[in-house]
Amino acid sequence: MNRIIVLTTTLTFGENKEIIHPVVLMDDKNMVLIDCGYTGFFSAIKQAMEEKNLNCADLTHVLITHQDHDHMGGLWELKQEYPRVQVVAGKEESPYISGELKSLRLEQAEEMQSELPEDQKQFGLAFCNLLKSVRTVPVDLEVCDGDVFDWCGGCTIVGTPGHTPGHISVFVNEEKVMITGDAAALDHGEPIVANPQYALNLTEAEVSLEKIKAYGAKEMICYHGGVLIL
Ligand SMILES: [Zn+2]
Repeated sequence: MNRIIVLTTTLTFGENKEIIHPVVLMDDKNMVLIDCGYTGFFSAIKQAMEEKNLNCADLTHVLITHQDHDHMGGLWELKQEYPRVQVVAGKEESPYISGELKSLRLEQAEEMQSELPEDQKQFGLAFCNLLKSVRTVPVDLEVCDGDVFDWCGGCTIVGTPGHTPGHISVFVNEEKVMITGDAAALDHGEPIVANPQYALNLTEAEVSLEKIKAYGAKEMICYHGGVLIL
């Protein structure tokens, strides 16, 4: 049976809480997790799966929409526990996930560091250290815009560059559901460019947002913001 399961997961960071929305795509043969949370928080994703009666041991693939720490931070832990799970990512994003190339987000954060006001430098440095702590993982399957997989009755990879150069979203063809990653975040029920100040190419991010808005989806699932019925 084909199923799309949203893993609404609340994470606690000291006094702060954050809700993320990884997604599981299921059919008779495949179980695909899309994005896997922050470094050190894979257990929270695992628990969210168990609450939906899903067993991590049944995962066949984990798709990473892009190399940011809140999307791939848990990947190393996942692979330690379940080494047979295939890692899927966009061809252009792959070298940053595997560590062949230095994280662009880290480069951006290091460049910003010198421009930060004195009272924010400590925070900036902590953020750089957080990014440095993300453990890289080899990518097993590199995908491109328009690639089609049989997951969940048929899925199309949608290239959505801008937030990062190789960012991808996933469209579930039959159900017309767009899993956006950070190509769209929800703000008061509206899909917007996620954290535009951090987009590595804002113009491309804006084009990508329009692309997925025009895709004919009945539903968007945003990692930051959750489900939007269209
Ligand atoms: Zn994110």
